[in-house]
Amino acid sequence: MTNKKQNILIIGAGLCGSLLALRLGQRGYNVTVYEMRPDLRKTDISAGRSINLAFSDRGNKAIKLVGIEAQVEKLCIPMNGRMLHDKDGNTFLSNYSGRDHEYINSISRGQLNALLLDEAEKHDHVTIHFNTQCKSVDFENTTAHFQDYNTKNEFVEDADCIIATDGAGSALRKSYYLERKFLFSFSQEYLTHGYKELSILPTETGDYKTYKNALHIWPRGDFMVIALPNLDGSFTVTLFLSYAEGEYNFNNLTTPEIVIEFFQKEFPDALELMPNLVDDFFENPTAPLGTVKCSPWH
Ligand SMILES: Cc1cc2nc3c(=O)[nH]c(=O)nc-3n(C[C@H](O)[C@H](O)[C@H](O)COP(=O)(O)OP(=O)(O)OC[C@H]3O[C@@H](n4cnc5c(N)ncnc54)[C@H](O)[C@@H]3O)c2cc1C
Repeated sequence: MTNKKQNILIIGAGLCGSLLALRLGQRGYNVTVYEMRPDLRKTDISAGRSINLAFSDRGNKAIKLVGIEAQVEKLCIPMNGRMLHDKDGNTFLSNYSGRDHEYINSISRGQLNALLLDEAEKHDHVTIHFNTQCKSVDFENTTAHFQDYNTKNEFVEDADCIIATDGAGSALRKSYYLERKFLFSFSQEYLTHGYKELSILPTETGDYKTYKNALHIWPRGDFMVIALPNLDGSFTVTLFLSYAEGEYNFNNLTTPEIVIEFFQKEFPDALELMPNLVDDFFENPTAPLGTVKCSPWH
């Protein structure tokens, strides 16, 4: 059993790491968190990378557990159903539930993460360090090796318990794999599709250009566009598309003309709402999607 005076080291301050730091802080543990990126409350690091999330009852259960439901609710936009858009611009709202009080929410990933960090830091025995990357973990000695990006200094941190919440490219998982830990299994598969974030900006008066309370979907078989509302009147739009297959793909959408042709043909009603399409398309990264499996996992 873990003794509460023990030091818990958390690697990664994304959604899971910051939530865990808060929960363990509430329970009286000494918690130190190291995050590779700059503090997202001080720097805008979200551009083009999963700006908002569909947030459902499962996520809300964790939020209730740490007692910040009322603050999180202020960040949420209810989405009662999927708004399906066909190629002719016809729409059809398919509700998620027959009961009015059941819906999912759109929430800003950055704002949710920032709130969790603020709440975690309210506990004196929770410390969060940014710009510090975990390089590896030594399981026998329960230590982790870090590099501070500002000073370039490398150091080793000792802990009683190490928990890695460092996402899809976990350094701890890599150490498990490299050390050939007994019965540790791991696989990583990339999809042939990637994603790119685009946006529907608000009207000049700050209103939503299309129906606010839905998760919009333009399904087209092998590819699709989705849009989720943000509190500022905009929508974050995500294009899921193959890198190399099909008539239009990320590899051949290389000029403004082809991008507009693709949207005119496949998503004409979305294009009307996106005069900023070409700028977004060429400024935002195309990111890969994949599946990581490992065993054991928690
Ligand atoms: C395009 C896309 C859309 C998604 N949409 C949804 C959605 O609508 N709803 C939903 O619930 N989920 C969604 N997800 C999934 C969701 O993003 C993940 O489940 C969630 O982010 C996992 O949280 P995490 O804290 O485990 O990892 P992450 O959010 O990846 O956080 C990991 C953190 O660890 C840091 N880190 C990484 N390596 C190191 C290191 N070596 N040292 C120190 N720090 C490190 C990273 O900088 C990061 O801050 C989506 C994912 C993607 C890619």
